[in-house]
Amino acid sequence: MKIGALEAGGTKMVMGIFSREGERLVEHTIPTISPKETVPHMQAFFAEHDVDALGVAAFGPLDLSRSSPTYGTITSTPKLAWQNYPLLKELSGGRLPSAIDTDVNSAVLAEIKLGAAIGLQSAAYVTVGTGIGAGICVEGQLVHGLMHPEVGHMLLRPHPEDSNPNGVCPYHDGCLEGLASGPAIDARIKGDARRLADDDPTFDIEACYLAQMCVNLILTASPQRIILGGGVMKRKILFDKVRAGTMKLLNGYIGHAAILERIHEYIVPPKLFPVSGLIGAYLLGLRAYEENE
Ligand code: ZN
Repeated sequence: MKIGALEAGGTKMVMGIFSREGERLVEHTIPTISPKETVPHMQAFFAEHDVDALGVAAFGPLDLSRSSPTYGTITSTPKLAWQNYPLLKELSGGRLPSAIDTDVNSAVLAEIKLGAAIGLQSAAYVTVGTGIGAGICVEGQLVHGLMHPEVGHMLLRPHPEDSNPNGVCPYHDGCLEGLASGPAIDARIKGDARRLADDDPTFDIEACYLAQMCVNLILTASPQRIILGGGVMKRKILFDKVRAGTMKLLNGYIGHAAILERIHEYIVPPKLFPVSGLIGAYLLGLRAYEENE
């Protein structure tokens, strides 16, 4: 019995074949071009390995309503070739037990089952990279709601020393992704943020925005842990700054020991990075298989 898993990203498609127990047997990566060029390779890969179920963790926005005729379709993405593309249907052929969720929802699922939030019922996984997105799990359920959360576009209060307080998002002035994604930092410093020293003041501005995000997540979704992943969070000094900023902004209002006494265990890096999304896709595929048994 084999489960196929796909982490569909804007630049690459990472495919995996897993045993039922979760052992990763094969992994294969191809570049993301257009559906016409990319999808036949993925169909061939999963057919070659004769998978019994398929799980997909994908960039979005996605139609995640199980009762919708367009369930599993990528909707209004800026990646034009993939707009309104029925990704899940094309890969499963409508025959295999299959399921899809956002890359970040898949990542939070993986971290809860096997990683940095093991044993918890509620957690948030935030990726801070080229874009910003968050997967949220509340009481064991991945949050979809109207569509799915779009935490990356929450609106923030500008830092007084930010030279670019409107940010770089084409949709919003002063949203999280526009202010704190990798491209937002590069635009602020007019250069490559990866070259900066750890003590550069731009990381205080970055941490201020990420702390506002943590506060907003705590106040709305009440997660038991916040996991911060993605390329920007490879800058480890950000963690302590974000923890301190979160404490300061909350100002003692959330009187729980997890925050007041153990913030270093509350805002944490992922354990499964960079494969949280792929492992989450396997878990989605496994669940679809078990529902069909
Ligand atoms: Zn925005």
